[in-house]
Amino acid sequence: MPESERQLPLPIFDDTHTPTEDDSTQPTAFAAVGPGEGQPGQSALWPELAPAAQKTPRLSAPSPGPPTGTATSTSTSREEGRGDAVPQEPTPDLEELEKECKTCRKCDLRAGCTQVVFGEGNPHAKLMFVGEGPGQQEDIQGRPFVGAAGQLLDKILAAVGIRRDEVYIANVVKCRPPGNRLPTSEEAEACLPHLRAQIRAIKPKIIVCLGALATQTLIDKRARITRVRGNWFEKNGIMYMPTFHPAALLRDETKKRPVWEDMKKVKEMLDRLETA
Ligand code: SF4
Repeated sequence: MPESERQLPLPIFDDTHTPTEDDSTQPTAFAAVGPGEGQPGQSALWPELAPAAQKTPRLSAPSPGPPTGTATSTSTSREEGRGDAVPQEPTPDLEELEKECKTCRKCDLRAGCTQVVFGEGNPHAKLMFVGEGPGQQEDIQGRPFVGAAGQLLDKILAAVGIRRDEVYIANVVKCRPPGNRLPTSEEAEACLPHLRAQIRAIKPKIIVCLGALATQTLIDKRARITRVRGNWFEKNGIMYMPTFHPAALLRDETKKRPVWEDMKKVKEMLDRLETA
């Protein structure tokens, strides 16, 4: 199910990799840069969580500063992750990218979907969300995150004080997999240049990876969403926050609190960037 959080078999892009015990721990190619302290928001979505959220304990690790856009001392090791770097060369604008994407036939998904769902939102967004792939409603409407999971994402954004029209939302694959199945590694790999180009064009400072596929595609192929969520990862001046896919929350309410905590960190970082 593209609109869901899944624990993918690892790796998804390297068929020669033999999973080890390390696969269930923090990714080694990327270094978490330390969690920030979440600030309490006004939770209309989960009012029962708001009081507890305001008691967020002080964390021992220092909060990361806003991304500077320059390589850090750990950038070399981070560069050793899978081929998920966002090259810095100039790119055509987003409209041109969308036109190109909508004529794409690089994988078989296009033959089975209604339309290409490129993504939408503020082309100058500091905050970008990346999910897995279009579901049924997205395929019909041509817009990302408009089904049940999308409506929940809207509520999550509202709960932490982020407007949907100030962010950009996209998926790893732009065409709906048949039957809402998980995109294959080949499909995700084929579509990755579109996502990379989007990221280069939008130049977000923060990317929230919604679910396992986005996390493994953009952060580390060996990452387990249950282990890495809630931690900041940095690469090429972009801060990455992995968290559960909203669809996972529809199935499992226990994931609400961790997502709430993760989104508070995102909001805090966003606010910090606004005032930097
Ligand atoms: S999923 Fe991506 S790579 Fe495949 S046809 Fe659609 S746009 Fe092209």
